[in-house]
Amino acid sequence: MPTTPEAALFSLAEPAVACAAAQDVPPFETPHLDGTPMRAREQLVRWHGPDDDGFGTWVYPGRTVIEVPGRTWPVARPEDCTDESFTGIWFDATGHPVPDVLDPEAPEGVVLLCAQCGLDCT
Ligand SMILES: [Zn+2]
Repeated sequence: MPTTPEAALFSLAEPAVACAAAQDVPPFETPHLDGTPMRAREQLVRWHGPDDDGFGTWVYPGRTVIEVPGRTWPVARPEDCTDESFTGIWFDATGHPVPDVLDPEAPEGVVLLCAQCGLDCT
């Protein structure tokens, strides 16, 4: 079991690199979360949305769910996500949602996440 955040990242990075190589693309780089309370989930995402009817969307190898403290994603995993809005929610460096990123007074958005499953769509 990983004991440090570095180890946790590495254990996701390894299958992500292998998956990216198999698809002949460079591995995805997670947004910079250092200094924020948010963390990348240590889980390889295979697709986004239900796949049984052919509507699952390809997800870049290594792109994963971002865990935001105090927020539970309504859908447990991206493979089961039913979000069809394709809008997502921006979160600032403190892990709070930014309702209007175009507002000049609003804090800068750090990550754009699916509102249902938390998949990183930045
Ligand atoms: Zn989703």
